[in-house]
Amino acid sequence: MEPRALVLEDVRKTYPNGVEALRGVSLDVERGGFLAVIGLSGSGKSTLLRCVNRLVDPTAGRVVFEGRDITGLSGARLRRERAKMGMVFQDFNLIGRRTVMDNVLTGSLFRTPVVPSLLGLHSEEDREKARRLIGLMGLADKERVRADQLSGGQRQRTAIARSLMQDPSLILADEPVASLDPATSHGVLKHLRRVNRDLGTTVVCNLHFLSLVREYATDTVALKDGRVVFRGDPGDIGERLFKDIYGEEAGHVTID
Ligand code: ADP
Repeated sequence: MEPRALVLEDVRKTYPNGVEALRGVSLDVERGGFLAVIGLSGSGKSTLLRCVNRLVDPTAGRVVFEGRDITGLSGARLRRERAKMGMVFQDFNLIGRRTVMDNVLTGSLFRTPVVPSLLGLHSEEDREKARRLIGLMGLADKERVRADQLSGGQRQRTAIARSLMQDPSLILADEPVASLDPATSHGVLKHLRRVNRDLGTTVVCNLHFLSLVREYATDTVALKDGRVVFRGDPGDIGERLFKDIYGEEAGHVTID
């Protein structure tokens, strides 16, 4: 049997200032799934994603990626595993003065020798691949446009295309639509779902709005104070559970 995309076993993270951001999270993610991580601000969502790609080192517990325990890895072995994980951030992290094509090409840097890549000497094969991914993200007519001339949604779709240059089997998206308006959020999530369905890439995505979670995710984990309080089908999150996760005072916000 194929190993799961991701297994977390009792992962804990205590930051040096004493904050216990994760208090024993266990979780598994099927290959090809679209997992939404939800919870109030400060519940540990971002820390969870960062423990997977090891931008944050867990204090305890295990992270198993496609059957390989990556918890203790460092150096070249960690870089090799990270190369299979695409990262998408809330603030896009694009180079504003470079074109969409140039930005997407930076996604192949991990395997292009440093000097040629700094000189912009990418292979025709890489350019062809970048072009295909830009097309997949619906940006074919923007290839030569500078990133700082794009709308927020177009920037995020460029960032997704960039993350795909390394052929990741997993995409970790940390609040990818948090700074976008509702219509644009749908556009970005539809494209992320296309990657998930068409390329089979597993997606783990922090999302704020439950209406978006219900529409795009196949699976949900809810965190509260660094612990898992719900795991399952997003459609099963009823009123009681919603209040448990977001607090008694919380109201529903629908994005449509
Ligand atoms: P979320 O993504 O759900 O908003 P985070 O994972 O960012 O939650 O944060 C969880 C908790 O850890 C919060 O209390 C936050 O203040 C704290 N925290 C996050 N990053 C750091 C850090 N680098 N140093 C100290 N505390 C941190």
